[in-house]
Amino acid sequence: MAPVLELKGVEAAYGKAKALHGIDLRVEPGEVVALLGANGAGKTTTFRVISGLMRPSAGEVRFDGASIAGCSADAVLRAGLAHCPEERHVWPEMTVEENLRLGAYLVSQRIEIERRMERIYLRFPRLKERRRQSAGTLSGGEQQMLAIGRALMSAPRLLLLDEPSLGLSPRMAKEVLAVIRELQGQGITVLLVEQNVHNALSVASRAYVFETGRVVAENTSQALLDSPDLLKAYLGG
Ligand code: ATP
Repeated sequence: MAPVLELKGVEAAYGKAKALHGIDLRVEPGEVVALLGANGAGKTTTFRVISGLMRPSAGEVRFDGASIAGCSADAVLRAGLAHCPEERHVWPEMTVEENLRLGAYLVSQRIEIERRMERIYLRFPRLKERRRQSAGTLSGGEQQMLAIGRALMSAPRLLLLDEPSLGLSPRMAKEVLAVIRELQGQGITVLLVEQNVHNALSVASRAYVFETGRVVAENTSQALLDSPDLLKAYLGG
């Protein structure tokens, strides 16, 4: 089967500082794949390149076989790839519902927007209860659900989730993991960055380990869980 996402030799830099030194990775349809690695290893930069927020200086990014390297973030979103960044960026003064609508800004038919919103509310009943409340009054976990819900309003086939459980209580982090499993059950492919290795490997089938802008290991989650020494060597425990 053709991969949903494929990166070949991707390089990227902030000014003169090179952040990615030739990233190769692929994600098959329906997979949940995790990117692991210490702070500054290049995971977020990889997400920025994939979602069109940053132009790679070299290499190839393919989504469903078509090159998207250097495409605008809008074009990438329209193609079916949504990015839920680490900084949740919900609009605190706007209501939950207004935030969700923003996720569907590329959709013009109102009926389709309502349909998608109902689906999000089914998945996140707490958002429905709070739909007229300003987003800034939600708890951290609820804001994360809102950020994921907003990304889902674009009906993506591939969802990039950057540190979805960052700063959440263990209970809320578990809820986020449950949501990821549910998304997979609905055929949405997920690429995940997660500091909590155990959480990441509990939901992903495979993982790539990043170190200073390079992929230094790639394996199934089971193999990584079975070799704690390897994980420790790459991730420091
Ligand atoms: P983290 O978990 O801390 O976000 P990461 O693995 O996502 O880590 P990146 O954020 O991609 O790593 O960082 C890769 C490299 O790029 C680091 O050396 C970092 O200092 C640098 N970098 C990241 N963002 C910027 C930026 N906006 N301007 C300049 N350098 C940056």
